[in-house]
Amino acid sequence: MIDAGAVANSILHYPVGMTFFTTPERLEVGNHPVVSSGARPTREEALKYYRGVARAEGLRVRTYTQLTGAARSGSHVVAELESALGEPRCERLACDRLVLATGYFEHPNLLQVPGEDLPHVSHYSEEPHRTSGLDVVVVGGKNSAVEMALGAYRAGARVTLAYRGTTLKPSVKYWLRPDMENRIKACEIAARWSSTICEITAADVALQNAVGEIERVPADLVYLLTGYHPDFDLFQRIGLELEAGTCRPRYDPDTLETTVSGVYVAGSVTAGRFTSEIFIENGRYDGERIFGDDATRGDAAKRAQAIERAPGE
Ligand SMILES: Cc1cc2nc3c(=O)[nH]c(=O)nc-3n(C[C@H](O)[C@H](O)[C@H](O)COP(=O)(O)OP(=O)(O)OC[C@H]3O[C@@H](n4cnc5c(N)ncnc54)[C@H](O)[C@@H]3O)c2cc1C
Repeated sequence: MIDAGAVANSILHYPVGMTFFTTPERLEVGNHPVVSSGARPTREEALKYYRGVARAEGLRVRTYTQLTGAARSGSHVVAELESALGEPRCERLACDRLVLATGYFEHPNLLQVPGEDLPHVSHYSEEPHRTSGLDVVVVGGKNSAVEMALGAYRAGARVTLAYRGTTLKPSVKYWLRPDMENRIKACEIAARWSSTICEITAADVALQNAVGEIERVPADLVYLLTGYHPDFDLFQRIGLELEAGTCRPRYDPDTLETTVSGVYVAGSVTAGRFTSEIFIENGRYDGERIFGDDATRGDAAKRAQAIERAPGE
C-alpha cells in the first residue's frame, strides 16, 4: 500500500471531532469490528480503527509516498513513486496489478475567482478554535460547510454561510440541520442563499445574489467547501480512458480493470466526477471485486449495490 499521506489520510483531514453519518458496521473491512463509544463513530475512532486493521493484517504500508505515473512494461505494470520522507527520492516499482484508490480529497473544486489563492482562504475545514473572534465566510451547503459554520459560530466567530442553492442540501446530517436552521432563524449565523462568489480580497468576499446585486461581506478567514474531484491528470498520464462528461474511468464492471491492462480502480474514483456515489459503505467491497473469484466478486457487487443512501459530506 502506497499513500501520499498518512494511513487513512482523507479521514485525517476530516474536521476534528467529526461524527460519521455511517453506523459502525458499515465502515468495517476484513471482518474487523469497529468499536465506537456512540451510535456512530468519530473521526478519531475511525483513524484508530483503520490503523489497527493495517497492523492486524500486517499490511506493508508506505506512507508519504506519491504515485506520479505508471506504465505497462512487458508482463508488469511499473509504478513511478516519489517519496517525501527524508531525502526526497523517485523510484520505480514493478507489480502484477496496480489498483488506483486515490480518492478525491487532494483536488478541491476551484471556484476560479480572483483571490481564491490568498493565504486566508482554505478549501478544507479547520479546527474551529482558529476562527475565534473573527469574521468568517463559509461557502457551501453540505455537511462540511454546515459543520464548519456551526463550529466557528460556537468558537465565537461572526459567521456568514454563502451557498448557490436556495436551501441546505437534503443530505445534511439530521442532527446538524435543525441546529443550523435555528442559528440562521435567530440571526446568529447569517445565510446568503442563491449567491455566487465574485471576488475574495484580504478584507472581504464579494457575493452576488439571484437578482445580480453585489454585497461585500467582511472576512478574515474564508472556507470554500465546495467539493473535490479525482486526479484526472494522473489517470490521463497513466493512459486511462475517461468517459466524456462524467470523467468516469472506463473499466470492466466485474473486475474493475481499466482499459490499461493490469491497472484497476477502486473506491470513489470509480464514480469520476460524481464523488458522492461511492463512499466508504459501498466502496469497501471493491477489493473483493478485484482480487476475488467469480463467486466472491458477484457477492461483493451485490452487497455494494444494496447500499443506496448517498453520503452527505
Ligand atoms: C468530511 C467527510 C465526511 C465523510 N463521512 C462519510 C461517512 O460518514 N460515511 C461514508 O461512507 N463516507 C463518508 N465520507 C466519504 C468518504 O470519506 C470517501 O467516500 C472515502 O474516503 C473514499 O474512499 P477511497 O478509498 O476511495 O479514497 P480516500 O479515502 O480518499 O483515500 C485515497 C487515499 O489515496 C491517497 N492518494 C491520493 N493520491 C495519491 C497518489 N497520487 N499517490 C499515493 N497516494 C495517493 C490519499 O492520500 C488517500 O489516503 C466523508 C467524506 C468527507 C470529506
